[in-house]
Amino acid sequence: MQSPAINQAMDILKYLRVVTESQDSVSDKLSKIIRIIAEQTGSDAASIYIAVDDNYLELFASYGLNSSAEHRLTIRNGDGLIGEVGKTARSLATSDAVKHPKFSYKAVLGEEAYHAFLGVPLIRWNRSIGVLVVQKKDVHEYSRTEIEILETIAMVLAEVVASDEMTAYKKELIKERGLTLKDKIKGISLSKGYGLGQAIIHRRRQAVSKIFAEDKEKELKRLETAHKQMNQDLDEKLNSTKIGIGEHADILDAYKMFAKDKGWYKKIADNVNSGLTAEAAVERAYEDMWNRLSATSDQYLKERLHDLRDVADRLQTYLSGDFGVAAEVMNSSNIIVVAQTMGPADLMDYDYTKIRGLVIEDGTPTMHVAIVAKALNIPVVAKIKGLFNDIKTGDSLAVDGNEGYIYINPSLVIQEKFKNKIAEKEKLQARLAELKKLPSKTLDGVRIGHYVNIGLAFDLDYIEATNCDGVGLYRTEIPFMASDVMPDVERQIGYYKELMDRADGKKVIFRSLDVGSDKLLPYWSAMGEENPAIGWRSIRITLDRRAILRKQMRAFLRAAARRELNVMFPMISDVSEFEEAKETLMIELEKEKKKGSPIPSKVNVGLMIEVPSIVFQLEDVLKQADFVSIGTNDLAQFTFACDRGNPRLTERYDVLSSPFLKLLEDIVTKANQAKVYCSVCGEMASNPIEAMALIGLGFRNLSSSGASFGRVKSMIRSVNVAEVEDYVKSLLKSQKRTLRPQLMAYAYDHGIEIY
Ligand code: PEP
Ligand code: MG
Repeated sequence: MQSPAINQAMDILKYLRVVTESQDSVSDKLSKIIRIIAEQTGSDAASIYIAVDDNYLELFASYGLNSSAEHRLTIRNGDGLIGEVGKTARSLATSDAVKHPKFSYKAVLGEEAYHAFLGVPLIRWNRSIGVLVVQKKDVHEYSRTEIEILETIAMVLAEVVASDEMTAYKKELIKERGLTLKDKIKGISLSKGYGLGQAIIHRRRQAVSKIFAEDKEKELKRLETAHKQMNQDLDEKLNSTKIGIGEHADILDAYKMFAKDKGWYKKIADNVNSGLTAEAAVERAYEDMWNRLSATSDQYLKERLHDLRDVADRLQTYLSGDFGVAAEVMNSSNIIVVAQTMGPADLMDYDYTKIRGLVIEDGTPTMHVAIVAKALNIPVVAKIKGLFNDIKTGDSLAVDGNEGYIYINPSLVIQEKFKNKIAEKEKLQARLAELKKLPSKTLDGVRIGHYVNIGLAFDLDYIEATNCDGVGLYRTEIPFMASDVMPDVERQIGYYKELMDRADGKKVIFRSLDVGSDKLLPYWSAMGEENPAIGWRSIRITLDRRAILRKQMRAFLRAAARRELNVMFPMISDVSEFEEAKETLMIELEKEKKKGSPIPSKVNVGLMIEVPSIVFQLEDVLKQADFVSIGTNDLAQFTFACDRGNPRLTERYDVLSSPFLKLLEDIVTKANQAKVYCSVCGEMASNPIEAMALIGLGFRNLSSSGASFGRVKSMIRSVNVAEVEDYVKSLLKSQKRTLRPQLMAYAYDHGIEIY
């Protein structure tokens, strides 16, 4: 049986369909629609407000109100009852509007005669694109059924408002008012780089034009077939794609879990059973979930909404039977994908070797597609509201992933600029690739141990691509962060073994779990500490939650069976912490031995120097450590008492200053005296000018990020150690706040390559 709300809405929609399919002008259609809605819902007035930009709603059509207000009245989001519906994207009903705390009087409407108010949002792709309002002269308590009827009508109306015809009408209005459409739009950068190409609108979802099912059984069958086919295809894609490695596989697995979630499927089937078509049922199920989750402040749950939207869109395309069309829309070899939101699996719908950029209307830096795009070297610009008003498939687009801008149909001058930037980057890349075969050796023949830092799975490619000496830092927390559940020992062994196999006998330094502060695990709720950077984080957590540390040590030992194992502990503030952590590893080693399991051929244990207090216990700790590695990012943050992530402070203190360089010199000198291997794995080793200063201080081992490895090598190969040592040491007496200009001038004068 259909629900009463659906029955009634169905009748109203029959009238509306006649209007929407007529040859009338857009403005006539809207006026007629509004009149029908008012009459059929027994209202004295009705009106429709449409979002004209991010901040304002404009009255497009009304019935029972002062019609001269149409296209004159604009309401700021959040302002009054209508603005509230627009802002919150939630329905609002009140028996007497004037008494509502949010009420704001609009004289132009002549609405003082009205009391009962019901406003519902027009939602499309999570966004409120307008507000539909009905009003009554009497005081009236709106029932749940009345609200549901209007919400169902709004669902159809949203599709009308988003139609091409309506978009063209809106553009015409903007033009008439002498405003120009935007051609350079600011967003945020999610992945750096420059891209030039033709837009493909990734908008596979078709408007849901049929809301009510004529034959429930047939709808259920359609749903079942589409759902099955979608999952089969997903499995196939995920198994065959190149990007399904390491934690990308985890991301895609999480996505697959959504697609296969029985609860979600049942909800859709229930909606079909209540009288909706499969398409409308999918949307309803999504909206229910969105209503529940969008209000949460839990970032992780919010991220899941992207995945759910993506899966819902995907299912819609299977229902419509036109899956795969997007990939063939354009044969261009340079494409820029423009999407409202995107799941990681969506990239696989395109030939990613042709994708030159991604532009996303929503989006957050941690969204999964951004991680995958970075891995593929695709620039991404996100958070551009109203994107689809300005861009259509086939438009030429320039994406500036460095500054977070996009240019629509850029002028020849801009295109030229982008081409130059892309060519420059390619040239530099080619030059650096040439260096691959050459050793990281200085002009005066000093061999620098040159390693890479690894976190994401795509970093693994750098081991081979850079021809490095090994992995100086493996941030094991990254796969933990990318996973939906805490990886068990077996899973961890998989990650670590893969890394060791890829390193193929080269040195690998594993760092134990370094979570907390800005590195949050999705399955651990944030602690809400006052000062997370100096709070319960890193080794402090794993020593307190010893089982986690033990399991990780076990996984290291097993993954490195019969090979050399190097384990280092982060954030050590006191010798005793190092002793405890080391002991935990040794106990696990003994256990493995007792069990007769194969063990590593050698176990080296080290620590990161990133908390100043340990520098004052260096002699003691060096007696017990096989190696040390300096985390200059944290060491600088704690030395200067300066939050490393606070943009206001980035310019204030410089690692290239006498106090910090002296501190580093002290560490390397003591480590060299104790004959303990000492390296730098913080960002300083990834920045050519800073790495040059490190060599000047006596460091002979550097671990750089994969992306900057070539630039650092280029510096190493053009520096003379004896000379730079003299120069850097002479600078240490300086009282200047920063020694960067002097060091840059030195590099320039001595032909040292600093890119
Ligand atoms: C550092 O602090 O310098 C470091 C390498 O560790 P992370 O950046 O992972 O904190
Ligand atoms: Mg650190």
